[in-house]
Amino acid sequence: MILIFKKRTLGFMGIGILLTGLSFGAINMALHPHMNQWKQEKIVVTMVETSQKAVALTFDDGPNPEITPMILDSLKKYNAQATFFIIGNHAEKQPQLLKNMAEQGHEIGNHSYSHSYSAFSLNKIDIFQAELHKTANLIEKITSQRPVLFRPPGGYLSDNLVDFAKNEQLIIAYWTWQQDSKDWQNGNKAASIADHIIKNINPGQIILLHDGTNNSLETAKAVDIVLDSLTREGYRFVTVSDLIKLANEE
Ligand SMILES: [Zn+2]
Repeated sequence: MILIFKKRTLGFMGIGILLTGLSFGAINMALHPHMNQWKQEKIVVTMVETSQKAVALTFDDGPNPEITPMILDSLKKYNAQATFFIIGNHAEKQPQLLKNMAEQGHEIGNHSYSHSYSAFSLNKIDIFQAELHKTANLIEKITSQRPVLFRPPGGYLSDNLVDFAKNEQLIIAYWTWQQDSKDWQNGNKAASIADHIIKNINPGQIILLHDGTNNSLETAKAVDIVLDSLTREGYRFVTVSDLIKLANEE
């Protein structure tokens, strides 16, 4: 609903974009008519039901040689695990960093090779399949682990993408709507990003953050604030796969 409202505020242009998206069968966020069905089938996950105070921090668009190590240090300090949805052509330039991330127990998810919005938003099957395969192979080669999660750039979903996920036994890891702090927006300061996360926190949430954008220094600072505050509130930080397992065990 929030997204529909936002689209309306954009006026006719927004509606035009929306209709274009619909006509191609690809659309982002909760607007997709099959979203609830996919969540029930556990192909798409946005959060989990758990009585435990556990959440998953996720970072998109890295790895970044300056920002990602800062985040890794914070995670280590608070004995926290996270999930990184990496872009293949960034990871290719930072293989040692990617290896370190995996060796420190963090989960590596697939966020495509070139972050091409059009491959996903315009539902170009051949291109998105090639992008996801190339990146999965790269992650496996560097970390010896085949990724089981992927997150489409821009959050664009389509029936074709979901079919692809089913065939490859992958989970499309979305995020919890309340936990999108828009940390990537220039000028969004660490205190405000952290505040958004802390005041909306609930068990089982998947928190959306970015370690590969121009504003990611603020994100890295926010992570330290969030970990400090929520650890004191009794929260644990686990990978998305562990969060899913936790819910399944209950
Ligand atoms: Zn992204």
